[in-house]
Parts: sequence; C-alpha cells; structure tokens
Amino acid sequence: MKWEGRRESKNVSDKRGKSAAGKTALGGGLIGIIAVLLYLFGGETGKQIAPVLEQMNSQQNTEQTETTRNLTETERQMGKMVAVMFADTEDVWHQIFEENGMQYREPKMELFDDKVNTKCGSATADVGPFYCPADETVYMDLRFFEELHNRFGAERGNFAIAYVIAHEVGHHVQTLLGTNSKVHQLQQGKNQKESNKLSVGLELQADFYAGVWSKYNQKYLEPKDIDIALSAAQAVGDDAIQKRVNGQVNPDSFTHGTSQQRKEWFMKGFNTGDIKQGNTLDFLR
Ligand SMILES: [Zn+2]
Repeated sequence: MKWEGRRESKNVSDKRGKSAAGKTALGGGLIGIIAVLLYLFGGETGKQIAPVLEQMNSQQNTEQTETTRNLTETERQMGKMVAVMFADTEDVWHQIFEENGMQYREPKMELFDDKVNTKCGSATADVGPFYCPADETVYMDLRFFEELHNRFGAERGNFAIAYVIAHEVGHHVQTLLGTNSKVHQLQQGKNQKESNKLSVGLELQADFYAGVWSKYNQKYLEPKDIDIALSAAQAVGDDAIQKRVNGQVNPDSFTHGTSQQRKEWFMKGFNTGDIKQGNTLDFLR
C-alpha cells in the first residue's frame, strides 16, 4: 500500500520504548465486577480471552517508574505508516457513515511494547492486536507483524498490517452501530459453543468491514495487496491456528472463523463495498 507523504492520524499515541514497570497500589473499595470485552485479531488457542471478566478497582494509585529507550529508524517509519493507515480508516468511515446518514466517531490507537493497561484490563503483547470498546482504542504491538510472517506464515507486505488495522477498526464500527453490545447480550446465558458461534459472526463481520474499507481505499493499493490481505486472513483462521498448535481442529471452539470464511468475508466486503451486505450474524439477516 502506498503511504509515504500522506496524512497521519492525530489519534495515535505512541508508547513504544516507554515501558511502565510500575507497581499498582490498590486504593479505595472494590466497586464490583465489570464485564468487559476485548476483541482480538487472531491469537493462539487458549489466549483468546473474549469476553474477559475483569475485577476492577474503583481507584488505583499507580506508581510508575518509566524506562525509556530510543526507537530505531525502522520503528519510527512503522509508526508513521500505521498512522497513515489509521488516517485512511478515518476518511473512509466518515464517508460511509455520512452516506448512510450517520456520524462517525473516530477511535484512538495506542502503540505499545510488551504490556498495556486499558479500560478492558491489562494485556500483554502475546494476545496480538486488539480493540477495547470501553475506551474505543485499538492497541497494537507492532512486533506482532514479524510473528504473523515468521510463525503464522503470512506473506510479507505492509497490507497485512493495513488489513489488521482495518479489522480492529471494524470492531469499532460494530461498537458505534450497537452490534457489539447486541451480541454481548445474546451471549448471556448461552453455552460456550453457542457463544463462540456469535463471536465468529462478529469477527467475520470485522473482516468484511476490512474488505469494504480496502475497496474505498483502492486508489492507494498496490497490485499484490489483496493477495497479501488474504494470506494474512488465511494464516489467522481458527482451523489453521489449531492445526499448527494442537495438530487437530475443534470447530466448536472456533471464535474467529476458518481461514476460508475469513477470506470469503473479506472478499465479499471488497467486492461489494456495501456495509449492508455484512450479515454474518443471524439477527442481521
Ligand atoms: Zn477481531
């Protein structure tokens, strides 16, 4: 994807190189248990933690000792690139929402190393990129993309990163449209298998939205970009991940969809460019 010299999003905060190695002192009374959802891009079996039930404290006095290191030139370039990609999602989603008589509220993005605290709880880099609806933020440790290539076998190319960003922004769109909370509601009282099915519907719709975004962003795409996105979608399908990790596949435990489904929904978004076609969930049909 062509990105050099283009507008960078103002909504990106870069916390890389600053790891907060502080201890959290708990103060005040426990306010209760807050259920929050984290929407992960892919991730290894067993690390998929949506929904996460997080016990949160009403007041936290955090004492932080900051350790800093300078970013390398490559890391700085990566930061600029994702800020351009994120800006492209802002432009496209403003346009799509306006076309449908709605107003788009821009999400935030935070780049981090190793560990991050969010309104959905804290997370480490090994969960992969994720979106937290409670603070409407996409969290990314950019070193994930090396893994996507080295461990997941995805084709190298910056459009793999664009696809992942667009997928996470897809979860933000679901938050604005109320789809997230509707699914969360439907998951209450359901067994794991049924709840997983709903989760698959949400994830495939996020892939579909990534495809719609790619269509609107076509003027910046390079010839192999769609193949690169499909290769990334292939690599993070539940069946592909389970086969690699466990040597076998258990469809009832799928939370993101198979490689085939992820590719199909991405392509449906790309081919139609119509957000109304993303009916991956029964109640949308
Ligand atoms: Zn996701």
